Amino acid sequence: MAAALAIAAFQVLPANLWLTTGWQMAIGYAGVAAVLVGARRLPRRERLPWLLFAAGLGANVTGIGVGFVSSHFWHLEDLPTPADPFFLLLFPFCAAALAILIRRRETARRNWTAMVDATTITTGFGLLAWVFVIAPSAQGGHMTMLGETVQAAYPIGDLIMIAMMARLVRGGGRRGPTFWWVVSALGAFLAADIGWVVMGNLIDQGYVLRDMSWLYRGIQSISLLAFTMFGIAALQADSRSLSAPSGPGIARLGRAHLFLLTGASLVAPGLLAVELAHGEVKDGMAIVIGSATLFLLVVTRMTQLVREVERQAQQVRDLARRDELTGLPNRRAWNDELPRALEMARRDGRPVSVALVDLDRFKQFNDTYGHPAGDRLLKSAAAAWHGALRPSDTLARWGGEEFVVLLPGAEVSEAREILERALGATPLGQTFSAGVAVWDGEETSYELIERADAALYRAKAAGRRQISEAANRPEAAAATK
Ligand code: GH3
Ligand code: MG
Ligand code: MG
Repeated sequence: MAAALAIAAFQVLPANLWLTTGWQMAIGYAGVAAVLVGARRLPRRERLPWLLFAAGLGANVTGIGVGFVSSHFWHLEDLPTPADPFFLLLFPFCAAALAILIRRRETARRNWTAMVDATTITTGFGLLAWVFVIAPSAQGGHMTMLGETVQAAYPIGDLIMIAMMARLVRGGGRRGPTFWWVVSALGAFLAADIGWVVMGNLIDQGYVLRDMSWLYRGIQSISLLAFTMFGIAALQADSRSLSAPSGPGIARLGRAHLFLLTGASLVAPGLLAVELAHGEVKDGMAIVIGSATLFLLVVTRMTQLVREVERQAQQVRDLARRDELTGLPNRRAWNDELPRALEMARRDGRPVSVALVDLDRFKQFNDTYGHPAGDRLLKSAAAAWHGALRPSDTLARWGGEEFVVLLPGAEVSEAREILERALGATPLGQTFSAGVAVWDGEETSYELIERADAALYRAKAAGRRQISEAANRPEAAAATK
């Protein structure tokens, strides 16, 4: 609140350099102090990014003072001024802090999606920076080599910041108030730098600085806002969460992100259009390289998305066909499998048997040992039977404590033999009853199951713990007469 007032008051301060400089530095150092106070409240190992931010901010604020002294007393106006190293130090310190945060907020694996998004956004901005800032300043010709290098260092530093911010925002991690304050503060620094570029261009076009003092003040205020927002971020109650990873959730492609990615991708054709409209394509090669890079990035992103969709579709298919408790194919999978098996048997002219298996007195088992123990029995029984069957047999969960077995190539005697083996393998001294039916070559899968079920019913009625063979279909019997 005090900071907001101070920034507001800054707009109407008299144009006394001593006063305005002092005012800015006071607000700036207050921000640094707030970050340090906030860092002290954190556990030791979480302080480093905040200390780096504080160092970068501190250097930047100091640069304001150095700049004032060097221009006011020593009349150093041309780049590089003694203040530039201080201003520029903001970039490496913030970049280091962001790199640490990005790492800590990520859970283990590399986040390629966030990388591609960040690269796309940076390429778009990079092309803009090249065409409007870096290339023109290199052609200026009225500066020393060192001056040009220093001048180019600002947009390059900004680009690195854009890259890391994009990576931070597209990556994982908790997004509390602290996160958004930090992002806003960094965004304000970038906005201020863009402001300086715009102002520099206006001056190049012949505007006089004195006529733009409101713009000058405005840009300075944005920097002050950035310092203040950093301080606010560090003093948030949730400031710890900034380096906290979030679950493995993937970054969603929200409207704003989509907008940003689209905008970045359209920078290249947009620039080309603008230069064509001006009658001269000056940056053809840069535009070619930029647009090729953007195309490749978009294709990469698309490939990632398609792969992800395919993977999820496969996952959904698997889930839909598997019984959760036992891991066996469920009834849905079985219903697909059986007609296919019958069709195969018809083609090969080989027999195929189907058995319905039902645990004996399972309700009693549940009542005695509890439902969870019942679940464990279902699981271990499924595993034991699976082991007793042949590899070519299919065991599926029909529902409840009932299972079905598909025995390709098995006549009734062989099927009975295999099922006896499974019966003996049932864990915890439990037993099952089964009804087995051999496909008669004509009936539907539904009729086949119906016969096995009737046989199962008879096995139960005859005292359980046994396998009974299905009778022929009545219609089939009638037909053979
Ligand atoms: P029978 O020998 O005649 O087959 O007797 P039963 O008790 O096995 O048969 P009944 O149909 O009377 O009872 C089946 C029981 O199986 C009732 C139900 O609570 C239990 N059950 C069904 N599904 C599950 C399950 O997923 N987990 C557990 N723990 N119990 C289940
Ligand atoms: Mg039952
Ligand atoms: Mg039962």
